[in-house]
Amino acid sequence: MTTSDVVVVGAGAAGLFCAGLIGQGGRRVMALDHAQLLGEKIRISGGGRCNFTNRHCSPVNFLSLNPDFVRGPLARYGPDDFTALVTSHRIAFHEKHRGQLFCDGSATQIVEMLRREASAGGVDLQHPVSVHSVSPSQLGWRLLTTLGAIETKVLVVATGGLPIPAIGASRWGVDLASNLGLPVTPVQPGLVPLSFTAASEGWLSLHAGVALEAMVGAGQPESAYGEGRFQEDLLITHKGLSGPAILQASSFWQPGEPIRIDWLGGRNFDELISESRHGRLPVEAVLADLLPQRLAHGFSGALALSGRRWAELSKADRLRVRGALTQWEARPAGTLGWKKAEVMLGGLDTRALESRTMAVRGQPNLFFIGETVDVTGHLGGHNFQWAWASAFVCAQAILSAH
Ligand SMILES: Cc1cc2nc3c(=O)[nH]c(=O)nc-3n(C[C@H](O)[C@H](O)[C@H](O)COP(=O)(O)OP(=O)(O)OC[C@H]3O[C@@H](n4cnc5c(N)ncnc54)[C@H](O)[C@@H]3O)c2cc1C
Repeated sequence: MTTSDVVVVGAGAAGLFCAGLIGQGGRRVMALDHAQLLGEKIRISGGGRCNFTNRHCSPVNFLSLNPDFVRGPLARYGPDDFTALVTSHRIAFHEKHRGQLFCDGSATQIVEMLRREASAGGVDLQHPVSVHSVSPSQLGWRLLTTLGAIETKVLVVATGGLPIPAIGASRWGVDLASNLGLPVTPVQPGLVPLSFTAASEGWLSLHAGVALEAMVGAGQPESAYGEGRFQEDLLITHKGLSGPAILQASSFWQPGEPIRIDWLGGRNFDELISESRHGRLPVEAVLADLLPQRLAHGFSGALALSGRRWAELSKADRLRVRGALTQWEARPAGTLGWKKAEVMLGGLDTRALESRTMAVRGQPNLFFIGETVDVTGHLGGHNFQWAWASAFVCAQAILSAH
């Protein structure tokens, strides 16, 4: 029988960081992970450069059924705190776009940094290890694992979300919460490309590869996570739509609902059209002044206006063109699912947790951190910032109370 002060299950971003902090505070801590290779999600993040935080990260960048929950953890451990840690490890980084901080070199530098921090805390890091069961014990919790039985005073669950099952994602944390009788909000893929079928806007796939800046909206004010609108790059693919604007909006989208696209990215259609310049041109050429040429071709076909001159169009047809370009609505067939999602929406309902500590209410020796809980960040470093902030407040709580 092995005993420990603290066992952290899941040694990804949140778990490894949390274990290091607890170990450096002088507690005996074991971190267990079922993956052969640690930190794989960090390694593939940010296109291999890890967008490890966002300088402007604030509560407005998160979706949760309990939106105020993130305030405390983010206030206590913000982007500057993690950036200071990265700097202290002499990892060079740069700001790419709207506060997003990326490693100059490679994402593996963040994995190595977390490993060094864990090692400085004497963390007993064990992997691959499977945890078969968790039950209350006299000390706190008893885990039956492929390493044998482990008894611990405190259990921290940091097994992340469901995206990318091929590199170790599992439902373990969410299922444990349910088995312990804790409330779980519905889970679904977030920050994920959206698919269209031949029956729904099939013409889009003919323009795969076209990219442009657009304004994309999804959700409704009364939806679970409200409404989101994002002006960023959009990419047409063979399967549907992708790119940052679509990924962001996908977190607000529910099956069966439409998404709304302003293909002009907020530019004023009426101001862009000049009768003297465009009047004698075919519709396709007019649209090519506003959109990438291939997309202009697609729209004039989809609107059945190919070959017509702009000056010949009726007022109704002109309004139809303006509507299609600035208030395009279409119903995606679905998302590309967990294999392509960057995050999980939903998870352990945060109303069951103390936001000051990440402990389960009424159970001061059980903590859930990171993506397993119903907190999902926008694209741009916010999800890692949540992993660091939730891990930090959890570690501080354990060090002060246990
Ligand atoms: C392709 C991709 C790119 C991304 N890029 C970014 C980015 O640039 N910036 C950003 O902010 N966010 C990014 N994210 C999101 C970010 O990676 C996650 O939000 C973050 O890793 C969550 O941290 P976590 O510790 O909760 O979970 P994870 O980092 O996923 O760690 C969970 C750990 O638990 C382990 N585990 C799971 N199940 C079990 C089990 N049953 N037993 C034992 N161990 C288990 C896993 O092996 C893993 O090591 C990206 C995600 C993806 C998929």
